[in-house]
Amino acid sequence: MSKTDVNPPYDIFSATVKKATLITPLLKRISVDAQEVSGLRADLPGQYLKVFVRDADGFRQPGRAYTVRRFDPKTSELELDFVLHGDEGNISRWASRAKAGDTLEISRPNTRSGIMIDPEGKNYFLFADETGLPAVAAIVEALPATATARLWIEIANTKEMQPLSAEAAVSVRWLCRELGETLVDAAKDLSIPSGSLVWVTAESGQVAAIRAGLKKQQSVETYALHASGYWKRGVADHRDPD
Ligand SMILES: Cc1cc2nc3c(=O)[nH]c(=O)nc-3n(C[C@H](O)[C@H](O)[C@H](O)COP(=O)(O)OP(=O)(O)OC[C@H]3O[C@@H](n4cnc5c(N)ncnc54)[C@H](O)[C@@H]3O)c2cc1C
Repeated sequence: MSKTDVNPPYDIFSATVKKATLITPLLKRISVDAQEVSGLRADLPGQYLKVFVRDADGFRQPGRAYTVRRFDPKTSELELDFVLHGDEGNISRWASRAKAGDTLEISRPNTRSGIMIDPEGKNYFLFADETGLPAVAAIVEALPATATARLWIEIANTKEMQPLSAEAAVSVRWLCRELGETLVDAAKDLSIPSGSLVWVTAESGQVAAIRAGLKKQQSVETYALHASGYWKRGVADHRDPD
């Protein structure tokens, strides 16, 4: 069968890599000029869009969701953080080799993505693995000084730790898979005070287990629980149902 480009039913825009930097051994930050892409907001952390790359024959492959790590409206510079999980994924393979001058294509951000930050401050309980960390890092950067945030971040090993900046009072617990530490264990038996916002973005099976545990807690209101599987072990292009 002859190959063709994948053509999504929405606009996509060509973007050139301005900078590609390894933040940790398994996380690459790629900055692009997103001047043409409307809908990006610096004040809506957790926004995500679709990234498209081409195969070795030049055909556009199906897109994957990536989080807006940072957007600067003054310069239109958009930063995306890519987990390098191996060459079996088109995007991971592309990102591991990406350098300034390479091209990719991106969509506008999903219009329902991102969370509004309460300017009055609030308690935040944030759980993520490496794929959910760009969203969590963007959220804590956006919190006012009156907010408090407790973070549980699951990473492969200590080399994946990265500095997080925040005005809010933030405590971070890094969980290393290498040491057998998991998000699911960390979330077990945790008591969440009423009125808190809870964010869980990680591997789908882990998110399902954490969500089920949290739903048993009456203090966690459904509207204040954002739990979404960002990838699924053994499944390409996984997307949790909304
Ligand atoms: C809303 C949303 C926002 C996201 N934001 C980010 C982000 O900012 N940064 C980011 O890196 N990812 C993010 N992800 C996850 C990313 O979309 C997936 O990891 C995606 O599958 C990667 O595409 P791929 O082409 O590399 O691999 P695919 O072709 O989709 O998958 C190939 C194989 O790799 C496995 N795989 C996929 N991801 C991983 C992983 N992280 N670790 C180990 N194995 C994996 C799959 O199980 C499959 O077996 C986000 C996902 C969603 C839904």
